[in-house]
Amino acid sequence: MRSKYVAGNWKMNMDKEGAQALAKGLVESLKGLNAKFMIAPPFVYLDSVYQIIKGSNIILGAQDMAATENGAHTGAVSGAMLKDIGVSTVILGHSERRYEFYENDTLINRKIHEALKSGLDVVLCIGELSSHRIVGVTERICEIQIRDGLAGITDEQLSHISIAYEPVWAIGTGKTATPQEAQDVHASVRSVISRIYGPKAAEEIKILYGGSMNASNAEELLAQPDIDGGLIGGASLKTDTFTPICKFASR
Ligand code: PEP
Repeated sequence: MRSKYVAGNWKMNMDKEGAQALAKGLVESLKGLNAKFMIAPPFVYLDSVYQIIKGSNIILGAQDMAATENGAHTGAVSGAMLKDIGVSTVILGHSERRYEFYENDTLINRKIHEALKSGLDVVLCIGELSSHRIVGVTERICEIQIRDGLAGITDEQLSHISIAYEPVWAIGTGKTATPQEAQDVHASVRSVISRIYGPKAAEEIKILYGGSMNASNAEELLAQPDIDGGLIGGASLKTDTFTPICKFASR
């Protein structure tokens, strides 16, 4: 039986004081809850947030990282640097990286290899545009993103990877996939993993849903058999909106 995993992607929000206050609030409000919790603040606040959450049941995530180990890569942050300051997981392939920063599956695949080499776990984001859904190619798009993103990843390495299914049309829009729509894609993602890595790996991998998940829709989404948690954007920015989702996940 897979335990649930709820991750908060703070994106490019907050200042240092706000980040610290939110981290403190979450340490208190998630105390004793029984699921895996991760928060991913902006790079510059990772260190100070880590000082607050270390020793709690919340792990630290980063929102992106470089595809290379070190050297002359202006503005980039390596996996080793993240690991050095307490980060244990990195979100890769988020649709905002794909569409705003032109990241493709090849680059995302290089980043995944680099993250694992640095000792980081990965949340690989996949998902279709609304134009894909309209013409009925959602599952095909997700399969391509999985196969290309995970190229060369071994069975052992897969145990350090979770997948977040995030329909792009649902991110930050207030529109959510219905529980059945989300479940259908999650089941197809699991069957892709089964075809590549076998049924045991498919049974074990956590597949999170992302796209306007909030306190009102989380319970029903998290009740679906193949939805193992959530990757939360907007609703992760306040203790009051993130905590109820975490509580549903820890039931
Ligand atoms: C996200 O960006 O991963 C996300 C799911 O955002 P939101 O919850 O705001 O839709």
